[in-house]
Amino acid sequence: MKSWGEISLWMDQLQQPRTARPALAAQVQAEVAIIGAGYTGLWTAYYLKRLAPQLRVVIVEAEVAGFGASGRNGGWLMGNLLGEDRMLAPLPAAQRRQAFDLLHGIPDEVAQVVVREGIDCDLRKGGVLYCAARYPEQLASLRSYLQHLRDLSLGEDDYRWLDAGELAGQVRMVNAYGAVYSPHCATIHPAKLARGLARVVEAMGVEIYEGSRALDWQPGLVTTAHGSVRADWVVPAVEGYAAELPPLGRHQLPVQSLMVATEPLPASVWEQIGLNQGQAFSDFSRQVTYGQRTHDDRLVFGARGGYRFGGRLRTDFTLNQDERDLRQSLMGDLFPALRKVRLTHAWGGNLGMARRFRPHMLRDAGNRIALAGGYGGEGVGASNLAGRTLADLILGQDSALLQQPWVFTDSPISRLRSWEPEPCRWLGYNAIIRSFTREDALLANPHTPAWRRRLAQALANRMEGLMAWKVG
Ligand SMILES: Cc1cc2nc3c(=O)[nH]c(=O)nc-3n(C[C@H](O)[C@H](O)[C@H](O)COP(=O)(O)OP(=O)(O)OC[C@H]3O[C@@H](n4cnc5c(N)ncnc54)[C@H](O)[C@@H]3O)c2cc1C
Repeated sequence: MKSWGEISLWMDQLQQPRTARPALAAQVQAEVAIIGAGYTGLWTAYYLKRLAPQLRVVIVEAEVAGFGASGRNGGWLMGNLLGEDRMLAPLPAAQRRQAFDLLHGIPDEVAQVVVREGIDCDLRKGGVLYCAARYPEQLASLRSYLQHLRDLSLGEDDYRWLDAGELAGQVRMVNAYGAVYSPHCATIHPAKLARGLARVVEAMGVEIYEGSRALDWQPGLVTTAHGSVRADWVVPAVEGYAAELPPLGRHQLPVQSLMVATEPLPASVWEQIGLNQGQAFSDFSRQVTYGQRTHDDRLVFGARGGYRFGGRLRTDFTLNQDERDLRQSLMGDLFPALRKVRLTHAWGGNLGMARRFRPHMLRDAGNRIALAGGYGGEGVGASNLAGRTLADLILGQDSALLQQPWVFTDSPISRLRSWEPEPCRWLGYNAIIRSFTREDALLANPHTPAWRRRLAQALANRMEGLMAWKVG
C-alpha cells in the first residue's frame, strides 16, 4: 500500500496515528467472520454487537480499515438507494411509503450513532441539490424526474422544485435554470466515519486484523496468508473488490470513480458560490457528478466513471493530467471562479455495480453466508442500512428491514443476476458511456443546432434503455 495520505484527501487529513493494526497470525474461531473493513463490514459488526454483545466477530481487512471506497468517496450520505424507485413502484402505497420512510431515515440513523459513539465525521444534514445548470435540456429532464417522484406519491417535504432565484439562495452556479431539492441527505468526512467506526466496534469487542487479505473463502472458513477464521457465518463485504474474490465477481462489476479537491478557498470565493449548510450538489446530466463544500472550505468534486476490460480493478489512482483537467473543467463550467484554482488532491476508487443496477442484501442460510453490495456509487447510506439488515438476517430477527424488495432471505448467491461475459460487458459499457459523453458535449455547446441536440438525446435515451435491458 502507498502512504495513507495518497489514498485520498480524507485519509490524508486523519489526525490519528497512522499505524496499521496487526495482521491475523493464528487459527481463530468466531461466530461471524467479515471480509473487508469498509462501511458494510463495520456497520454489520456494529449492529451485530449492539444486538448480541456476546458474539465473537472477526474482521479481516486486506489493507487498512477505510482503504476502499469508504475512505475515498464524495461524502454524500444519502437517504435512498440506487434504483429504489423501480423496486418500490410495484408496492401498495402504504408499504411503499414505509419503505421510503425507512430510506429517508438513514442519515438520521447515522447521525444518532455518531453522536452516541463520539465519532466526529463533520456530519451536516444540508440536503441535496440536483441542479440544471449546464444546458437547458437539463431542465426538462429534472422536471420529468420530479414528476416521476410525484407519481410515487413523494411530496414537497421529500422533493421540492427550486426556481433559479431560490436555488441562488443555496448555491450560485453560472446559468442555473432550477433544481430539485431533497432534505434527505447529509455530507460527511468519509475517512473519519470509516476510521471512527473501526475504533468504536473494536471497543465493543470486535477483532480487526489489517494487512490480512482473504486469499480463499468458503462456507465456514476464511483463509489469509498467516491465519484463518472458522466461523458460523461468513460476510464478504468487499463491494468494488468482488472481482478478486470468486465467485462474487460474476455479480458485481467494478467501476472506477474519480475525484478532485481544491485548496481551502477564501470567504470571498464562497460568497460567490454559497453552499453554506453542508448541502451536497450534483449537475443533472446522465453521467454522474457530485460535490460538497468540506468542513475546511474546499470544494470536493467527482465526476464520471470507468470500467476496465475483464473487470480488472484499478489499483493506481494517481490521476493523469487529462483526468484532473476534465474534472476541473466540469467544475469550472458550474463555478467559473474555480477554473484556475489549485487542486491539492486527486484520487479515485473502485465501486460495485450489480447487473440489475440495484443493491442487494442477502442471506444464504444453507451456506451461512450473508452479504450486501451493488450500491452503484450510492453506498455511504446504503451500507448503514445493509449493516442493520445483515445483522437481523444473521441473528434471525424478524424486522421491517427484512420485508424490503432489496432483501433476499434464504437465497443462494447464484440468485443474483450475473453480468454478461467479455467482450460484451466492455463493449456495452463503452458504447453507452460514449453516447452519454457525446450527448453531454453537444448539449453543453450553445452553438449545436437543434436537430443534432435531439439526435444526441435520442441516441443516449436508446443506450440508457439498452443498459436497463434484462434489469428485471
Ligand atoms: C470516488 C468514489 C466516490 C463515491 N462517492 C459516494 C458518495 O458520495 N455517496 C455514496 O453514497 N457513495 C459513494 N461512493 C460509493 C461508496 O463509497 C461505496 O459504495 C461504499 O463505501 C462501499 O462500502 P463497502 O464497505 O461495501 O466497500 P469498501 O469501502 O470498498 O470496502 C471493502 C474493503 O474490503 C477490502 N478487501 C477487498 N478484498 C479483500 C480481501 N480479499 N480480503 C480482505 N479485505 C478485502 C478492501 O481493502 C476494502 O477496505 C463512492 C465511491 C467512490 C469510489
